[in-house]
Amino acid sequence: MTTTWRNWAGNQRATPAEVRTPSDATQLADLVRTAGQRVKPIGSGHSFSGIGITDGIQVDLRRMTGLQAVDTDRGLVTVQSGTPLRQLNELLDAGGLAMSNLGDIDSQTLAGAISTGTHGTGAAFGALATQVRGLELVTAGGSVLRISAQSKPELFQAARVGLGALGVITSVTLAVEPAFTLHAQEGPMPLDQVLTDLDELAHTNEHFEFYWFPHTDRTLTKRNNRAEPGRPLGRLRRLVDDELLSNGAFWLTCRLGKAAPRLVPAINDLTGRALSAREYTDRSYRVFCSPRRVRFMEMEYAVPRAAVGDAIAGIRRVTELTGMRVTFPVEVRFGAADDIPLSMASGRDSAYLAVHMAAGQPYRRYFDEVEAVMSTLDGRPHWGKMHGLGADELRGRYPAFDEFRAVRQRLDPDGVFANEYLDRVLGPA
Ligand SMILES: Cc1cc2nc3c(=O)[nH]c(=O)nc-3n(C[C@H](O)[C@H](O)[C@H](O)COP(=O)(O)OP(=O)(O)OC[C@H]3O[C@@H](n4cnc5c(N)ncnc54)[C@H](O)[C@@H]3O)c2cc1C
Repeated sequence: MTTTWRNWAGNQRATPAEVRTPSDATQLADLVRTAGQRVKPIGSGHSFSGIGITDGIQVDLRRMTGLQAVDTDRGLVTVQSGTPLRQLNELLDAGGLAMSNLGDIDSQTLAGAISTGTHGTGAAFGALATQVRGLELVTAGGSVLRISAQSKPELFQAARVGLGALGVITSVTLAVEPAFTLHAQEGPMPLDQVLTDLDELAHTNEHFEFYWFPHTDRTLTKRNNRAEPGRPLGRLRRLVDDELLSNGAFWLTCRLGKAAPRLVPAINDLTGRALSAREYTDRSYRVFCSPRRVRFMEMEYAVPRAAVGDAIAGIRRVTELTGMRVTFPVEVRFGAADDIPLSMASGRDSAYLAVHMAAGQPYRRYFDEVEAVMSTLDGRPHWGKMHGLGADELRGRYPAFDEFRAVRQRLDPDGVFANEYLDRVLGPA
């Protein structure tokens, strides 16, 4: 029986020849060795790009979840690769541990998240893949490799953000820290002030980000810093904030914006004011992650940190010159340079700018125009989000692009893990 797979945003579909759900590395290695066709592991389907599509065997890792080992003294845990981040956060918390940084949501699987370079915010913090200390990988030949900085370092470097192109990750050893609480401060700030004070905001706060409301000079800033346990948001306040003011407000603004595009600047202005200041303290993972119930399309680019102002000015020009009306705020986050070949922050401190469009609304022109702006700033696209770049353009933007390709050639010379997206962004296997 064939089934149709769809991603979270609903813009990617696939009809795999087979869906398999192995429960351990041995079964997975047998599966790959005897597949006789292309193989593609899939996580929670939260990528917007076609990175997870296959017409061969789709490997669903839902039976490979949970902790395999905990070394509290060394701050290391080994986790099965299909573990959703939500489950991982709770397992860690129960053992008094936590991930140092997380993205906006916790629905992704651990392997899916690291494989696309998923990141949160924090000028001194790398993407989730920088927290990885070891990986177990089933290769195209069906071997099970254990790789780390000490054992097969060049494979390890590449496989931390491997785009699913190097093999199937079966477990991940992660550096974690003792569980901590974060004090969250959220509030409006004029865009000019954010840009003027950006260095200070990004460096004096452990996790700083802001949302800029297009067609306005308004932003919502978020500052999360480690703190002693304090007062979490009451359940009712959290419900009102997350569901009504965030998800509900975006749902409403998207509906209104679609019905009356000329009102979008006024609607954004109102939303920018309506999201009022709030402060609370809670367990780290509850502060980092919140639910996203409004479906949307997203493109995200990393630019050198110093280019944030130019990037925002470029997006503003796009909306002004084209007359496009954009309801969703632009999310701006920060991350530290790392040494992972295909990490968006490879070799440079970065700012991440994400543009969104409500599902069902035309996004192509907005994204294309913003992509052109990001190209002038040496921008690098998020592998799991929409973008239109190919291998020739990407090679010039990633200093170690060809090192990654060499590792891919070595591990998967026949393209067992290839698909159309990988052919485009890496070149044919
Ligand atoms: C609402 C929403 C919010 C988001 N927030 C953020 C954010 O804050 N920060 C950010 O950076 N990104 C964010 N993303 C993007 C998301 O984190 C990435 O696209 C991530 O890859 C999704 O994880 P997944 O488990 O759904 O992976 P999938 O989309 O299912 O797969 C992604 C890739 O990982 C590969 N893969 C999966 N499992 C394995 C494995 N075991 N071994 C090898 N390869 C594997 C797949 O083959 C595929 O190539 C968001 C996406 C959505 C929809």
